[in-house]
Amino acid sequence: MKTTAFKAVIGSAFSRKHRINGGSFHQIMAVEAKTALQRLRITLHGAVQGVGFRPFVYRLATEMGLTGWVLNSSAGLVVEVEGAADQLTHFEQRLETERPKASVVTVHEAEWIAADGSTRFEIHSSDTDSGKTVNVLPDLATCSDCREELFDPANRRFQYPFTNCTNCGPRYTIVVDIPYDRPNTTMREFVLCPDCREEYENPANRRFHAQPNACPVCGPKLNGTIEDAAESLLQGEIIALKGIGGFQLLVDARQPAAVARLRQRKHREEKPFALMMPSLEVAREYCEISPAEVQLLESQAAPIVLLQPKPATDIAWNVAHCSPYLGVMLPYSPLHHLLMEECRFPLVATSGNHSDEPIAIANEEAIARLKDIADRFLMHNRPIVRACDDSVVRLTRGRAGILRRARGYAPLGIRIRNHLPPVLAVGGHLKNTVAIAVGQEVFVSQHIGDLDTIEARGAFERAISDLCRLYSFQPEIVACDLHPDYASTQWAENSGLPLLRLQHHHAHVAACAAENNLDTPYLGVSWDGTGYGLDGTIWGGEFFRVEGNYFERVAHLRPFGLPGGDVAVREGWRSAASLLFTTFGPDSQIPETADAAQEKPRFENSRIRHMLEHGINVVQTTSVGRLFDAVACLTGVARHNRFEGQAAMLLENEIGRLRTEEAYPFSGGDWEPLIRAVIADRRAGAPASLIAAKFHNALVSWILEIASSTGLKQVVFSGGVFQNRYLTERAAAILESHGFTVYTHRQVPPNDGGIALGQAFMAGK
Ligand code: ZN
Ligand code: ZN
Ligand code: FE
Repeated sequence: MKTTAFKAVIGSAFSRKHRINGGSFHQIMAVEAKTALQRLRITLHGAVQGVGFRPFVYRLATEMGLTGWVLNSSAGLVVEVEGAADQLTHFEQRLETERPKASVVTVHEAEWIAADGSTRFEIHSSDTDSGKTVNVLPDLATCSDCREELFDPANRRFQYPFTNCTNCGPRYTIVVDIPYDRPNTTMREFVLCPDCREEYENPANRRFHAQPNACPVCGPKLNGTIEDAAESLLQGEIIALKGIGGFQLLVDARQPAAVARLRQRKHREEKPFALMMPSLEVAREYCEISPAEVQLLESQAAPIVLLQPKPATDIAWNVAHCSPYLGVMLPYSPLHHLLMEECRFPLVATSGNHSDEPIAIANEEAIARLKDIADRFLMHNRPIVRACDDSVVRLTRGRAGILRRARGYAPLGIRIRNHLPPVLAVGGHLKNTVAIAVGQEVFVSQHIGDLDTIEARGAFERAISDLCRLYSFQPEIVACDLHPDYASTQWAENSGLPLLRLQHHHAHVAACAAENNLDTPYLGVSWDGTGYGLDGTIWGGEFFRVEGNYFERVAHLRPFGLPGGDVAVREGWRSAASLLFTTFGPDSQIPETADAAQEKPRFENSRIRHMLEHGINVVQTTSVGRLFDAVACLTGVARHNRFEGQAAMLLENEIGRLRTEEAYPFSGGDWEPLIRAVIADRRAGAPASLIAAKFHNALVSWILEIASSTGLKQVVFSGGVFQNRYLTERAAAILESHGFTVYTHRQVPPNDGGIALGQAFMAGK
């Protein structure tokens, strides 16, 4: 059998050359084909279950007068069709062009086999023997058909909060085991009523084998009313709502006192909150939304999309006061639709936890953990198997740049070009995800979070055992980061399995190469905040020549000292102080900034100066993330990172609509001329927007300089710094205009959420 791997959008894979007997077969058989019956076996891999694929195949085959069968196996979807050869070819084409919207086909295999004279087309029951590589589908936002029924008083599911069909509804968060059949989901507790059963068993119904099918008679129920919840929200109360991937905390986004209470109770001081808007129309009143962003908002994943807020709206000042963006999502479950229909105003919708803890999923657990935050609980009795936060995306290079990959995306497999050994990759420490490799497929877990607390480490361990159990996976190798202090590394060391320790920035670019099916050699540009370097210093401004599994560090940022080490990650002004100290000598001063009054700059300065002068507690770094912190401070934009990447985000946002080709000198990654120029511009009264743009442009020139010197034509961008849209888009455009091909992330985040994929990929070489 011949196999072809390809991305979700296919077409070419359906050409005959991929079939086992190739073109010559067709020529020889051409005359016979018109009369004799042929049989074609098609196997589809990817996200092909739980999306109405079998009924679709049934309808298509029946309509075309073909016989045979279709079944779900643990490896994918298998179809055998019998009929005239040209009809079978046509069937195969239509299979691709008309397949269910929610499906993702990663591999299509076709094989001619002997006709067996079958007389009708059947849907066979699932086969569970083969290896478990089928993709479990992510949770899908409510489809338009179900939404219509939800608001149709004549429909039996009018206002039923758990309405779903084969095109929509929960998947990953309710599946206990695969294959994805009702007895393997948390819906097994609910016995279908006669009406629902008839829908479930009728291949012509859009709920045929919709595993979570339910109605007010037989399905899950709420413990309270939507009207009461909406009334509480209007009163400024905090509601804990059991959603799809866990509990959410909701509050009226227009009431600053209510938002402040949520911040205080959740211990979340400044990190921005996301909003759920009643509709796209309402969202437009608050944000600038491009057509591509509309597509993201309305996609089946229905993620939080970072948008540009409009000035002077009634959103409370403290919803996202430290961020230039508003994170916005639309209702994605019937329950959310009903609540938002009742509220008709924007809600803060944040994960149901205390800061730095995992999201609550079970009812009793949520009451115990959230009772000191929420004033009221709106829950239901459909169990959630695993926690899955809302995903976060930002439009970058015209498509979704995933910043947090969870609900709606996880656990779709990422198809890579080579066969991997059974490796478990445990990821980094911040924004952790884990991954397992099954053949050519890597399953990356949903976002787990920072591994700083015991609770988070528990969630990390649960995610590993869950993923392994779901795919009946026995790891033989564990891949981890080089950093000895990462909780994930320590877990790997204690696992008792053979260990593969991989350099952080190498894993970053490997992840991007893996998901782009890219062969080495390539130039990897790996820029982030912090990662353990081979020499024990903190890396983060690296250029690698990657060849096979080896990398050569061809260039890096000129190192500088971080006074206080990790403390400097939160206190970006320390990086600024260090660069000024080296550039201008011990008498340099940190420019005044907006919040300088709250600190004790004079005292702090003398302490830092002492540290720098004597090299006490100063760690060397090549991190571009820390350089961003320094420039943000010198520009007067931010002295601190209240959350990871905040200063860099604010600096990027300063650029606004300014377009300039001017750039600071930055040859060889030497920041000294750059710092001198920034200070000169500051003294001359240059606006922050210009300084910010010239800084970003300098980074781009440096990438071009290194790329031009290596002779490598393929360039890969990865690392948290490439969450920066201006930098990523400008660097990609300029490199491509110089003949380079630039690869950026599509399926996993450029930040440490992508590390696990890179680790898994590297275990294969
Ligand atoms: Zn639906
Ligand atoms: Zn029912
Ligand atoms: Fe990183």
